[in-house]
Amino acid sequence: MTCEPHFRRLARRDLLRWAGAGALVGLGACARRGSGGGPGVAAPPGVPWPVEVQDAALAVERAWGRRITEQPEVVLVDEARWAGAGYSDDQPAVTTGLRVVTARGAREDAAGSPRVRVLLHPAVDRLSPEERGLVLRHELAHCLLDREIPAAEPWWWREGLAEWVAHRPTGSQPRGEGEGLTERQRDYARSLATVAQLHRVGGRELLQQVDAAWGTPQLPGPTGLPRFLARRGLEPGDLPSTSGLRAD
Ligand SMILES: [Zn+2]
Repeated sequence: MTCEPHFRRLARRDLLRWAGAGALVGLGACARRGSGGGPGVAAPPGVPWPVEVQDAALAVERAWGRRITEQPEVVLVDEARWAGAGYSDDQPAVTTGLRVVTARGAREDAAGSPRVRVLLHPAVDRLSPEERGLVLRHELAHCLLDREIPAAEPWWWREGLAEWVAHRPTGSQPRGEGEGLTERQRDYARSLATVAQLHRVGGRELLQQVDAAWGTPQLPGPTGLPRFLARRGLEPGDLPSTSGLRAD
């Protein structure tokens, strides 16, 4: 993770900037590629903005066409706990309790908790419902998509897909250029643009095929993506360039 401190001094306009960029981590959660019916994310007592969380979960399920079958716990944490967990102040939220497979083998994420949780930075409380909705949908997309992340799945895919799901209900676009954006925010915007182009040429079905194929012999890594797409009839001119996108 990058670390860009001084959150306490961030003005509201700064919060708005990263709200559109979603959060880092993306370390999988909940019923990856699962099917079957779950009730979505329930709103137990103590969950912040229960209606917004519920709406976000339903929007994610509609965008992806599948149900969230494992319910994450959504928690608004204070700044001391946020910092104590090792998260940087420019992150609006993180999803923990996920299983990540790296080159060195499987591990739990930094929080080490088997329980899938969406942790929200206290400043999320100061966002508008629309801005907060982007953050919630981004994290809940990880809960739907990423129970276990294979080493072959690049960062740009994981985060770009979460951003695509997060933005889909409103059609909003993140700011990808201009002064004041961090490199991380540009990474998110570039990743989303790549996923969105794949959606334009192949629809949601193609996104789901690619997502399911990472780490399999059909798509052993990012370099295999052009061939994977060519086998599905896509021409080179249709394919997004993935050069320069963040791998991990
Ligand atoms: Zn993410």
